[in-house]
Amino acid sequence: MKIAVLAGDGIGPEIVAEAQKVLEALGESFEFESAAVGGAGYEAHGHPLPESTLRLAQAADAVLFGAVGDWKYDALPRELRPEQAVLGLRKNLGLFANLRPAILYPELAGASTLRPEVVLGLDLLIVRELTGDIYFGTPRGRRAAVDGPFPGSPEAFDTMRYSEPEVRRIAHVAFQAARGRQRKVTSVDKANVLETFQFWKEIVGAVGREYPDVTLEHLYVDNAAMQLVRNPRQFDVIVTGNMFGDILSDEASMLTGSIGMLPSASLDAHHKGLYEPAHGSAPDIAGRGIANPLATILSAAMMLRHSLHRAEQALRVEAAVKKVLAKGLRTADIYEQGTRQVGTQEMGDAVRAAL
Ligand code: NAD
Repeated sequence: MKIAVLAGDGIGPEIVAEAQKVLEALGESFEFESAAVGGAGYEAHGHPLPESTLRLAQAADAVLFGAVGDWKYDALPRELRPEQAVLGLRKNLGLFANLRPAILYPELAGASTLRPEVVLGLDLLIVRELTGDIYFGTPRGRRAAVDGPFPGSPEAFDTMRYSEPEVRRIAHVAFQAARGRQRKVTSVDKANVLETFQFWKEIVGAVGREYPDVTLEHLYVDNAAMQLVRNPRQFDVIVTGNMFGDILSDEASMLTGSIGMLPSASLDAHHKGLYEPAHGSAPDIAGRGIANPLATILSAAMMLRHSLHRAEQALRVEAAVKKVLAKGLRTADIYEQGTRQVGTQEMGDAVRAAL
């Protein structure tokens, strides 16, 4: 099994190093190969996603990704900005399914902005479609309005669209994930207003009939946004489109109160995936050895489960993280009085020791 290691910018190299060491400590014969991406790719090869980096990612069984971006690249033209690397990888690798678990570890209940009794026990998974919807739909552009309240005025427009196979494949990902969890899928749409999401709802319903052991419910996106803060524990797997998923996954991630704890996976049709923390490159704390590596380590656990067929090892890594938290070790972002503050490396070492 070959793992492409794309550490990127800011805290990326610090946190990815810890995750790689955790993978190495498992005693499996994984092969690692690193390449520059993001600002680092631009510095080394003049492009955020150099050709050689893309080829490595395509050839590997999975990609371990840190983060990209730094304020110093803000003046570059859009196509050379570090963040373009993420879009390029998603597109070129066909990564259509974004999995974002939001788990509240009991030890970190105080970090959430919601009351502990509302969030304790939270364990939900958002499955977001990643390559379609209004973000990529064509036509899009600017023109003079042909109708509406101000004909002839300049206007901008985008196109929301989903094809049946696009909806079917993301629905299958959600139902299959639910089978390994609490067997409940909530499909989030805006079927009351949008044709695209009436269509979405019908197709998810049809796919759901292939999974009689999984409960399916449908929620409008406005209600889902409200329910996520009212009673987030009602959810097991949420499946939705690109734009609603973008918004809801950030909302859900904040329920746990700690951006340094949240992993993610982006998968193609053959279980190949890119695994990265949900947070960015945190240039404000880069190079200081204080970043929380746990989101990246938990992303490596997702890699073990979804791409490397090592579910047992994934559970081992997740159990090791829980053990370290239970022992009271905390990086600065999750520190509370009465716990012990550690740096990035010490946290990684502790996880490996717990393994
Ligand atoms: P960010 O997630 O990098 O940081 C937000 C805040 O959270 C900062 O205060 C940071 O110090 C803190 N933080 C983030 N990760 C942490 C960790 N592991 N441990 C401790 N604290 C952590 O978001 P931002 O500041 O808005 O963006 C910074 C750069 O990251 C930008 O260039 C942005 O474009 C980029 N970005 C990249 C990705 C990606 O690579 N997929 C995602 C989001 C943002």
